[in-house]
Amino acid sequence: MKSLVQEMLDLSRAEQVDIHYKHELTDVKNIINQVFNNFSMIHPDFVFNLDDDLAGNVMVQIYRNHFEQILIILLDNAVKYSTNRKEIHISVAEDLYDIQIAIQDFGEGIAPEDLQKIFNRFYRIDKARSREKGGNGLGLAIAKELLDGYQGNITVESVLDFGTIFRIRLPIYREEK
Ligand code: ATP
Ligand code: MG
Repeated sequence: MKSLVQEMLDLSRAEQVDIHYKHELTDVKNIINQVFNNFSMIHPDFVFNLDDDLAGNVMVQIYRNHFEQILIILLDNAVKYSTNRKEIHISVAEDLYDIQIAIQDFGEGIAPEDLQKIFNRFYRIDKARSREKGGNGLGLAIAKELLDGYQGNITVESVLDFGTIFRIRLPIYREEK
């Protein structure tokens, strides 16, 4: 478990993205497979499903630890806020410019009035269920800061008591010819 201090340090580092790590290249398939395998191992009671539509090895311009951290934050939430149906779908696709990753759970969901607030620092939905689960309300703020720093974005769709999909987008790195 991460301490609050550790998470705050991560958050302050996320704000310095463009200074230090702007030029790192990361292989999308490689990191997704690694995180997928780790989560499958750590949570044997869950079914993780990976739908990878990438034609080949796609590179994105992001420091690999940051990319990994974003995926871990979203998968950690998907596990934590699942209820009876312990199933998580990850899908990866690309278009001309971007890769898109979707992480879907079938858990408690998020009410419309909370949807935009969940990306704020320290915001946690004040439900008995999520209070019990612990956490600092920093995961999504860190993920968003990181993605903003790398010209990416994150969006969410959710239905209360049915489930949630987070979608992230990052520009594909193409070598100039
Ligand atoms: P931390 O990630 O710092 O350990 P946290 O999980 O509470 O704590 P965030 O990851 O930032 O913080 O999420 C903020 C809030 O958004 C959560 O407390 C929860 O109420 C809600 N939330 C996030 N992901 C989901 C999800 N997949 N399903 C339902 N609610 C979610
Ligand atoms: Mg979290």
